[in-house]
Amino acid sequence: MAADRPTVEQYFMDMTHLVKARGTCPRRQVGAVIVKDKRVLTTGYNGAPRNFPHPLDVGCLRDELNVPRGMAADICPCLHAEQNAIIQAATTGVSIEGGDLYCTTQPCTQCSRMVANCGIKRVVFEESYPDPLAVGILTTAGVELWKWDGKSKAATKVKGNTFEQAQDELRRQWREAPPSLTPKLPMAGENPLALTPRPAGASREATPTGSSPASGGYAVRDLSSAPDRAEVIRRLAQEKAEKKRREREGR
Ligand SMILES: [Zn+2]
Ligand SMILES: [Zn+2]
Repeated sequence: MAADRPTVEQYFMDMTHLVKARGTCPRRQVGAVIVKDKRVLTTGYNGAPRNFPHPLDVGCLRDELNVPRGMAADICPCLHAEQNAIIQAATTGVSIEGGDLYCTTQPCTQCSRMVANCGIKRVVFEESYPDPLAVGILTTAGVELWKWDGKSKAATKVKGNTFEQAQDELRRQWREAPPSLTPKLPMAGENPLALTPRPAGASREATPTGSSPASGGYAVRDLSSAPDRAEVIRRLAQEKAEKKRREREGR
C-alpha cells in the first residue's frame, strides 16, 4: 500500500479545507463534513441565508465594526458551516445520528447545542475558538471533542470543561465586570432606526479607514456617516479576501 495514502481522519480533515474554500464571509471561512461509518453524509460551509447577497461582495458588519473574536457572533447573518451541514441532512433526509463532525474551527455555543442534539458522538476540529461554554455543552452532552494537529496529522482528545464550570467562570466575570446592557430594541414591525435617534452633535467623526476611541475594550470602526460607506465596506471585504488568498498561497 502506498505510504502516502492518507488515513481516514486525514482524508476527512483535508475535505473540510476544500469545503471551507467555498465560505462566503470575509471575516472567516469555515468548513464542516459530517461522516458516519467512514462515509461522507453531508458538508457545509459558512455563508448568508438563501436570497441574501454574499458577504464577500457586500461586507460583514463584524469586520466593519472591528468586533473581536468570539464576540457578538449574531450580528453576522451567516449560517455556520456546522449548521449548513446539519441543514443539508434535514433537507435531503439523511440521518446523521451517531455520526462524527469534522470541522476547520471549533464549534460555537449555538452549533454545539445543535451538534449535541443531532446525536453526533464525536467532533474533530483544527482551530481552537475562545468559547468555554461551547466546550461545556459538548462535554456535558457526552460528545467527544478531538483536536486535529495539521503537522503530525493526528487528532488528540481534548479534556473539556463542563457546562457548569463554564457557567461558574461567567458568573465570576459578570460579578467583576458586567457587560453593558443592550439599549431598548424594537419589537417586530417597529422601525429599528426610530428607537435610536442619533443626538445632534454627538456623532463620532468617521473617516473611511478611521476608528473611534476604544469602546468596550476595542476600537470600533465607525463608518456610519461616511458618505461612500457601501464602497468602503466593499473595499474592506475585498482587501480581506485578497489578504486571505495571499496567506493561503504562502505570500
Ligand atoms: Zn460575517
Ligand atoms: Zn457556530
